[in-house]
This record gives sequence, structure tokens and C-alpha cells, in this order.
Amino acid sequence: MTIVLEHPLAAHIITHLRDKTTKPATFRTLAYQLTLMLAIDSTRDLSTEAKEIETPLEATAGRVLAHQPIVVVAILRAGVAMVQPFLDLFPDVSVGYVGLERDHATAAARFYYCKLPPLAGRRVLVVDPMLATGGSASLAIELVKKAGAQAPRLVSIIAAPEGVAEVSGRHPDVPIHLGVLDRALNARKYILPGLGDFGDRLYGT
Ligand code: URA
Repeated sequence: MTIVLEHPLAAHIITHLRDKTTKPATFRTLAYQLTLMLAIDSTRDLSTEAKEIETPLEATAGRVLAHQPIVVVAILRAGVAMVQPFLDLFPDVSVGYVGLERDHATAAARFYYCKLPPLAGRRVLVVDPMLATGGSASLAIELVKKAGAQAPRLVSIIAAPEGVAEVSGRHPDVPIHLGVLDRALNARKYILPGLGDFGDRLYGT
């Protein structure tokens, strides 16, 4: 299942992210803002429980988040940009990192680092801003499943149809939350129209 953010603010932010004249400082802010929106959208089915409270005017029945810790697993390096919004929104978040890099010649994903908190019984969200071939995301999802994640989700800012097809084919049980679904990959496996290399845009490399 693919869920795309349908919101005028998301469209606005993505257009400025794409713009090649956007400088790294602004790019980081925009990436933060869009991930906040994705964090809210990808957790809309979290459980809540009843809580009686008193407003300054009267007693009322409210709802608060039930205890279900969230784990964000960021794919290095660009996924790091998507961690802080989850930390800022939710009271109980732990963070894992998976180091996967693309071989520039073959575009195949190569694994070099993995540090994960306990995953069983937690809401696990794998975050990677650019879902291009889907190779890294599929591998990361495989890793978190092996490490105990029961119903992981993938959260990306921009995806190519090829990446969505790859992840959905290998992990049909994993919902994919997107800011936008783009047109295609080019011959060098960059997303079109895309925004270029997310890590380079983020860190000014
Ligand atoms: N990773 C990026 O940063 N950009 C792309 O277009 C594809 C993968």
C-alpha cells in the first residue's frame, strides 16, 4: 500500500526542495518540515487511551497516546535528516541506523553498518528520503524484520515508481508513506524530476 501526502503545504515544500537554487540551510528546514508532515501521516493509526482531565472550566474525557514506543530506523546518510521531526513529535522514540550505500557503477545497495534498538512490539518506521531503485530500502526492511520488527513501514520524501514496485514486490506487507511519487529513474538511477542527490543537497557536499 502506498500513501502519498495530499496537502498544499507538502506540494509547496517539495517544490522548494526540488529547486536547485535552494541552499543547504533552507533545504534542511524544508526537509524537517516535510518529515514532520510525514511523521504525522504515518502514525495516524497509533492507539490511544482514555484520560480524564480537568480544563480550567470543567472535567472532560480526553485521549492520549497508548504506550507503543516508536523506533525510527534511518538509512545512512540521508535518512538522518528525517530523525529529528519524529524525536520532536513523539514522547517515546528510539533511533536505529543502517548504513547502506549505493555502488555508483552498479547502483546496487551495499551494507556497511547496523545499530538497532529492540524492535519487537514497537512501531518501526524505516526512513529514507529518496526511494529510487528500492534496493537499500528493501534490504533495510529485511534487516529490521530479521531483528524483530513485526509491521515495519517505510517513509520517504520522494519515490520513483521503480522503487515502489521493488519494495512492494519484496515486502507486500509494508505500507509506504510518501511526500510525492515522481515520474521515473534516469539511466544513473536518479529520480526524475527529483531533487538531485539528497545527501549532497542537505550537507552541501
Ligand atoms: N538518491 C538521491 O539522493 N537522489 C536520487 O535521485 C536517487 C537516490
